Formats: sequence, C-alpha cells, structure tokens
Amino acid sequence: MNHLPFATGGSLQVRRVFCVGRNYAEHAKEMGHDSREPPFFFAKSAEALTLGPEVPYPPMTADLHHEVELVVAIGRDGAGIGVEAARSHIAGYAVGIDLTRRDLQAIAKKQARPWALAKSWIGAAPIGMLHAPVEVGHPCSGRIELKVNGQVRQSGDLAEMIWSVDEIIAELSRYDRLLAGDLIMTGTPAGVGPLVAGDRVEVAIQGVGEARFAITAPAG
Ligand code: MN
Repeated sequence: MNHLPFATGGSLQVRRVFCVGRNYAEHAKEMGHDSREPPFFFAKSAEALTLGPEVPYPPMTADLHHEVELVVAIGRDGAGIGVEAARSHIAGYAVGIDLTRRDLQAIAKKQARPWALAKSWIGAAPIGMLHAPVEVGHPCSGRIELKVNGQVRQSGDLAEMIWSVDEIIAELSRYDRLLAGDLIMTGTPAGVGPLVAGDRVEVAIQGVGEARFAITAPAG
C-alpha cells in the first residue's frame, strides 16, 4: 500500500518504513535484554502496510506476535535534523502494529542474520489513518493499548519511550536523509504475544487514534 490516508482527507505517498527496536524498557526486559542498551533501527517494506480490516495470517510461522506502536509520518525532507527542529518535519501520527514472525526472528538472532523476513511481508504492518499535528498536536504521553478479543494484552504510555519521537528523528537523520513519506514505527510497550486466525485486534493511542483488524485464515 503506497498511499496512507489522513483522517481529515488527502493522503501521504509512503516511501520507507523505519522501525525502532526496544524503545520501551519493559519490552526490552521481556525480550531478555538489558533495558539500558540504546534502541536501534530496522525496516519494513512499504508494501507491508495495510489498512485491513482483514489481515491474513502469514506463511512460514507458528508464532505471529503483535506489537502496537505509535507511527510517525515524515512530511518534509531533512538530514542531520536537530531535536528541536524535529517536529517541523512531522506530517502526522497513526497507530500501527509491527507484526513479527517471532519464531523466524529467534532463529535470525541466534544465527546473527538479518530480521528482514521476520519483520516484513505483505500485511506485516497494519495501520490506522494518519492524523495531522493540527488535529492531534505532538503526543508525548497518553495510553497506548492493544486488545485481542476484547482482552487487554499490551498497555503502556508514550511517556515511557526511551527515545522520544523528536530524538528518534534526530538520531535516524544522522544516518540518512529522511524523505517526505517516510514512516517511523517507534517501538512497542511490554505485553507482546501470539495471534491466531480468528483473533479480533483493537489498537488505540490516547489522543492519536484507533484501529481494528481481524486476523484471517492464511491467504491461498
Ligand atoms: Mn516493534
């Protein structure tokens, strides 16, 4: 999916999808890592994005995990962006899910190989509509939550992020020019866990938005 709609109309042509790993201390701990290690980056294909509402269970895994995340959309190009200037590069925010084939990721970690196929496939990034700063401001705190079949599985607060959104933009733009249309998935709070076909997944970020998806049988 290349065009991500804004809730108030119009859309963003998506370029790249960057993701931040271990940006909430409690999630880093549940994955067996020292929470004092700095976060890091990986990527998904823009074709991983989907508005759903149906999300097919992907092939080659028996352990599909949910990771609810605040997604930031870049609206203006820039390299070496300072923390204080970061907000002027933001086009909007959304709630998204960094779906992960956790079993493939575990093998990749053990063999010191890339996470690419554990993190990116068509449908690996369910996402809600974009909300511009004029609508939602620049959220720095607020509940971030994921429910499966009505039960809360992940619940955290944006204020718990190790790197703030502004710091993420500054750090990432040291490595490469950020382009209008780039998305950044900013990491997940604790409580990640498995999904199965038939699950109803609801995600919400206070002050940003919400979305719902249904995990369906594997695509043919
Ligand atoms: Mn993630």
